[in-house]
Amino acid sequence: MKSLGKDQILNEPFRGKILHETLPEGCPHVSSLPEDFYTIPLTVRHSKDLEHSLAKFVQGEVMDGDNRFLCDQCQKKVNAIKRICLSEIPNHLCFTLKRFELDFDIMEIVLLKNYFELPNIISLKPLTHEPEKNEEEEKNSYTENNRYRLSGAVIYNGSSPDRGVYYSLVKDREDGETWYKIGPQGKEEFEFKDFPEEAFGGEEDRYL
Ligand SMILES: [Zn+2]
Repeated sequence: MKSLGKDQILNEPFRGKILHETLPEGCPHVSSLPEDFYTIPLTVRHSKDLEHSLAKFVQGEVMDGDNRFLCDQCQKKVNAIKRICLSEIPNHLCFTLKRFELDFDIMEIVLLKNYFELPNIISLKPLTHEPEKNEEEEKNSYTENNRYRLSGAVIYNGSSPDRGVYYSLVKDREDGETWYKIGPQGKEEFEFKDFPEEAFGGEEDRYL
């Protein structure tokens, strides 16, 4: 048995793999570069919820004009689609919402305050490139591997990127329903019905 170091033990449940794919038009030389990830960075600007941002994350972009793809094997530039797909997904999935953003007009980091909804359950099935499964395998896999239930959020509460505090909303893993708010003030029980007001941003001065 291979022994794992402390970092590996801590990181392993959160490790997934993405593929950076380039699919050229007119030649078969697909480029596919794997990369480990521990969190999926998602855009909050111009997006209303996590599903929408996730779709944008894997949407892909056309490489044409001056931005054409240089195919190593053909030794020429070709039009292509560049995209990211999730080839392996972890047991515990973390997202980083990009609420801190560099504003190029004023060259300062700003805090994006728009409303952004998080689902209670999310399935990553449409984003993976796993082989087709039969119905029974599909059912098991869907339950075990591809479906995630919301279990926590780290909230930033502040008026600007450098004036605020972090705290967490965490679900009790034992009973699966009690929520806690944990921060500088300590730990207290939290009503899950207040989650949207606490974590989705919008009017309130709290942002995920
Ligand atoms: Zn080629």
